[in-house]
Amino acid sequence: MEYLRLRGIGVSPGISIGEVLLTKRVIFSSRKDDISPEQLDNEIARLEKAIERTQRQLTTIKDKVKEKVGEEHSFIFDAHLLIVKDSSLFASLKKIITEKMTRAEWAISQIHEQYMIEFKSIADEYFRERKFDVSDVLSRVYKNLEPYEPKKTHDDKDKILVGHDLLPSEAALRLSQGNVLAVALDMGGQTSHTAILARSLNIPAVVGLRNITKRVKNGDILIVDGTDGEVLINPPLATEKEFISKKKRYENYRKELQKIAKLKSLTLDGERFYPMANIEMPDEVKPAFSLGAEGIGLFRSEFIYLHSTSLPSEEEHYNAYYQCAKVAHPAQVYIRTMDIGGEKSLPQLKIEKEPNPALGLRAIRFSLHDRQLLKTQLRAILRASVFKNVRILIPMITEYEEIIEVKNLFEEVKGELRSQKVKFDTHIPLGVMIEVPAAAAMTDVLVREVDYLSIGTNDLIQYYLAVDRSNELVSYLFKPLHPAILRILKFIIESTQAAGKEVAVCGEMAADPLSALVLLGFGLRKFSMNPIFIPRIKEVLRSVESKIIRRIVRKAMQLNSAQEIEEYIIERVLVKYPKAFLMGQKN
Ligand code: PEP
Ligand code: MG
Repeated sequence: MEYLRLRGIGVSPGISIGEVLLTKRVIFSSRKDDISPEQLDNEIARLEKAIERTQRQLTTIKDKVKEKVGEEHSFIFDAHLLIVKDSSLFASLKKIITEKMTRAEWAISQIHEQYMIEFKSIADEYFRERKFDVSDVLSRVYKNLEPYEPKKTHDDKDKILVGHDLLPSEAALRLSQGNVLAVALDMGGQTSHTAILARSLNIPAVVGLRNITKRVKNGDILIVDGTDGEVLINPPLATEKEFISKKKRYENYRKELQKIAKLKSLTLDGERFYPMANIEMPDEVKPAFSLGAEGIGLFRSEFIYLHSTSLPSEEEHYNAYYQCAKVAHPAQVYIRTMDIGGEKSLPQLKIEKEPNPALGLRAIRFSLHDRQLLKTQLRAILRASVFKNVRILIPMITEYEEIIEVKNLFEEVKGELRSQKVKFDTHIPLGVMIEVPAAAAMTDVLVREVDYLSIGTNDLIQYYLAVDRSNELVSYLFKPLHPAILRILKFIIESTQAAGKEVAVCGEMAADPLSALVLLGFGLRKFSMNPIFIPRIKEVLRSVESKIIRRIVRKAMQLNSAQEIEEYIIERVLVKYPKAFLMGQKN
């Protein structure tokens, strides 16, 4: 047995050692089998039957997953059911069969190809990954064209699942059964359903391995290291031992995280702070809380547009928000209205390509351009506010007038709901994101119009320093500790607090230990970040006295460059708190 080490992308941390179980995937036929006119009706009936069977299966799987892993993981099947029930899907398949006089298999492969081409042009990784939902449903219909065969029962007890790609429904079903040790896939990325699900179920996973399916066979021994993104095939005994001890170390570290999650969010001098989570899907709420989140500081609602082949209905919006609010209750959930446009374009929205997308019709600009979409979303958010823990966030505000327009529209939607006797939280607060330099400079004025502010430092730094946040060539200039950034952040935080309003930071800066200390020094108390960073930030903030940090930061502000500031703060903090940056190694 050959020993091999493969590198991939670790999408769910942890280590597992076990036997391979290969999963088969559907390969769409590229052969066009013709049919005669007499066979046409039969072919369409065959397709109809396959679609019906797919609907029945999806409903059964949905119920099973709901029962075994929870409702939030079963929502994906609502999306799949919507795709398979979409009458335009059946109509386009029927059209190909009739016009080309071909078998249904080929029609499905053609439609699949069209979708994949459309999805390829989507710049945003998260949205692009949603093509797998379409693939999933079409594969299922494709399989169901075959006469029903009783399933061979695989002994997938305590095995490592290896596949080219796991379709979302397959992932939900298999991972929810509780006997999968780890997952290793040829394809996939951080935001695939398999990755999200594996993370929330604590199953180590490595994806993007390219050809692992060609390198292993059932029964091979595998080590999956989801923390470092490595897979070892048939390792020698010494290596296996090494990984067993690494696994133990990781498990201890995980326990440490759980411990930190339960500790109070207080600085050494007793100042309360609030770690919160940035999420993209309702099923991320629970895992975020288990890492110590005390609320959802940013729910990026854009994902809802991907769970639908057409524009998402008010119900789809509502289900997602309601689920989030219910699971998070009594903690708060800040739902951001869609940040779509620019690079995050979607086929169903038919957004024109723009020469300068980051400066174009993005976020609230797009929403105010197409108000019906915003109204639908606001209605859904209001309906989901019945637990009184929902808050609204408006992205990329540039000027005062936009806030006024949004507020007017908001009142209009509330009026409609009232007249329809629909219940909602009449005191639901409204806040805006400060991401555009012009809005930052106007904080003292804008803040009077809203209930709170949230600083999107990813965009604020991009626009303030004129540095594309996703361009590697200029990433060396993307400096959160640039004195100009610190001056504006200080101004935003202080002017919001002077107005008696709340302020949070929900950009990556909140997840960086040094930057978080600086923000604490400015008086910030709400830090919203990718949940995996919460324990680290909590630990750092718990190790220091806010008064001392405030003094250190005030001095650092007199320096000339990001580098000087960074060096000064690290040195001063370490002199006073030598173990501030050593997570879990205090004792
Ligand atoms: C930000 O810009 O900092 C932010 C949180 O929003 P996004 O990263 O979704 O643009
Ligand atoms: Mg932003």
